[in-house]
This record gives sequence, structure tokens and C-alpha cells, in this order.
Amino acid sequence: MKWIKRNDSDTHYEDRRGKSMKRGAIGGIGGLIVVVIALLLGQNPLEMLNLVGAGAEQGTEVYDSSRANENEDLKIFSLGVFNSANDVWSEIFREQLGKEYRKPVFVTFTDQTRSECGGASAETGPFYCQLDEKVYIDLSFFHVLSQRFKAPGDLAMAYVTAHEVGHHVQKLLGTLDQLNQYLGRISEVEYNKLNVKLELQADFFAGLWAHQAQKMGIILLEPGDLESAIQAAEAIGDDRLQKQAQGYTSPDSFTHGTSAQRMYWFNKGYQTGDIRMSDTFNDPSLN
Ligand SMILES: [Zn+2]
Repeated sequence: MKWIKRNDSDTHYEDRRGKSMKRGAIGGIGGLIVVVIALLLGQNPLEMLNLVGAGAEQGTEVYDSSRANENEDLKIFSLGVFNSANDVWSEIFREQLGKEYRKPVFVTFTDQTRSECGGASAETGPFYCQLDEKVYIDLSFFHVLSQRFKAPGDLAMAYVTAHEVGHHVQKLLGTLDQLNQYLGRISEVEYNKLNVKLELQADFFAGLWAHQAQKMGIILLEPGDLESAIQAAEAIGDDRLQKQAQGYTSPDSFTHGTSAQRMYWFNKGYQTGDIRMSDTFNDPSLN
């Protein structure tokens, strides 16, 4: 993936690298859950609410200036993706939805930080908090993506950031609020099904970003790029992750979708570039 015109603006960027909470401030989540969450791409924004109080409410912040510029190349790249996603969505909101787009804030951190949705640590992976409208990423996640998940490549990294901005779009469109209303009112199995549709739609939005960013002359995709993003989508499907974590899969507990579903929806977003095709909630194949 090549930049044609990268937007390096830092007006919606909060750099918390080098600032972290002292160890022990985040914890009590339980070993297995941490492992499972660690494997997920993008914390479910709704589940994060349930983690409120699980950490980072107390503790002292420590600043390590030697880590303030850690993973600087990854920061420049991800911020560029984040800004380009905002540019793409501003145009789609204005021209296709007749609405004003409100930009989220991009936060990079090292090890641990706090959000209005609760504590965040490197293990939880990138996530979007709908209460403060911020996308949180510990940039070292991208090393995990390329090494443990064997999904290296620029577009694989870009997909992660664009997926999180996709959750912000869902907030602005009222989709997250609609889902919140079901919390506690339907069975966990039913709720998980809705959540899968939410995640697959964010995958579609990531694909749509790639399509539109190329069309708007912001990026240029090169041979192998699409494969690397699809590989990322495949590597972080719930069935694959569950098999790695527990040796078998249980579809009722899927919250992000299978590898095949994630690949399918990312690719559909990329191929069509059309927000009208993004309705995972009424797709017959997902019911
Ligand atoms: Zn997600």
C-alpha cells in the first residue's frame, strides 16, 4: 500500500505513549478471559462497558520518556489511516447520508491506559469506546498481528484501524445505541448473534474505506495488499481464535464472526464501496 497523499494532521490525536499506569492497576479479569480477549481484534465496545471497574480506576500514572516515541513509524502510518478514514466518512456522510460526520479521537498508548469504558491494556487489543468516542491502540499490537497471527502487511494494519473507525460510524448512525437496548433483554446467544453482525459490518466498513481511499487518490493498493488484509480478517475470526484457545469452536459464543464471514464482509465492502450494501443485520445468510 502506497500513500499518494497522507494526511498527518494531529488535531484528533492523543499520544499517550510512555505514559502508563503502574502494574496492578489493571487486573482481576481472570487468566483465560485475558487470553481470549488478547486474541480478539478490537474489543467489543459493548462488552467493554461490562469491564468498567475491572481496572485502571486507581493507580498512579508513570511517565517513561524513553518510550514516548515507541513504534513511531507505526504511529505515522496508523494516524494516516485514521485521518484518511475520517476524510472518506466525511464525504460519505455529506454526499450519501446528508449528515454531518463527527470525528473520533485516535489514542496511542503503551501497556495500559484508561478510557471512559474502563481500563485498557495491550492485551485487550485495539478498541473503540463509544462513551468518549476514541479509538485506542497500543501500537505493539501490530507486531502481534504480523508475528503471531501471520498477517503482516500494510493493508492488514490499516484494516485494524479502519475497522475501529467503523465502530464509530456505527455510533453516529445509532446502531450501537440500538444494540445497547437489547443488552440484558434477550438471551446471551441471541445477543452474540447481533454482535457478530455488528462486527461484520465494521469489517465491511474497513473494506469500504480501502475502496474509497483508493478512489479519492489517498492510497494506492499494490499486488498482495488485498491478500494481506484478507489474511488478517481470516486469522482473527472467532472460530480460528477459539480453536487456538480452547481446541474446539462453539458458534453460540462467537462475537466477531467466523474467519470466512470476516473475509467475506471485508471483501464485499472493498468490492462494492457502497454503504447501501452494508446491512449485515438483515442479511439472510446471517440469520
Ligand atoms: Zn470490532
